Amino acid sequence: MGRRILFLGPPGAGKGTQAALLASALGVPHISTGDMLRSAVAQGTDLGRKAEAIMTAGDLVPDDLVVAMVAERLGEADAVCGYLLDGFPRNVAQAVALDREVGADGIEFALSIEVAADELVRRLLSRATELGRSDDNEETIRRRLEVYQSETEPLFDHYPDHGVEVVTVGGTGTIDDVFTRVVLLLAGRGRDE
Ligand code: AMP
Repeated sequence: MGRRILFLGPPGAGKGTQAALLASALGVPHISTGDMLRSAVAQGTDLGRKAEAIMTAGDLVPDDLVVAMVAERLGEADAVCGYLLDGFPRNVAQAVALDREVGADGIEFALSIEVAADELVRRLLSRATELGRSDDNEETIRRRLEVYQSETEPLFDHYPDHGVEVVTVGGTGTIDDVFTRVVLLLAGRGRDE
């Protein structure tokens, strides 16, 4: 069994970038619910049609849809040897559902990338110009940060209360700077098994 790590942290903190780098370094799949949902929207699947307007508004796609999508993904062969989850769970209900899904194997720990709020907005606005994501306009960005505070931040209490440590890494500096911190943190922790 390889490593099973959750990436937490607000939108714009760089968790997608860091999760992708770390997943390839560890040789485990990077499972990003945001990427999976964007691809469902692009392909016009049933799920994509249900998710599109919600994502554009910056709200959370209903738990049952996202939990089913993740459960299916974790059942694929490549996830048997570990995974990095990025963008899931996004609230306590999803964390409880994940716990049921992974059972006794559990997850090792959650890693949060921290960046100050004004820097997050600046980064998200510049990403909007670069990538043209429909949920990177100013109003949606504000909404996504609110949703993060109200829905996702409670996980910083929920996980420690349930025996899962949340470790934080500073997200300022270059991608390489942050990745160095992530790798050092991982090296220091070793494997919990
Ligand atoms: P992300 O790329 O992780 O920032 O996600 C982009 C958007 O996809 C979010 O603003 C939500 O609308 C949706 N989304 C991603 N992950 C989840 C999740 N775990 N639960 C609900 N909605 C999600």
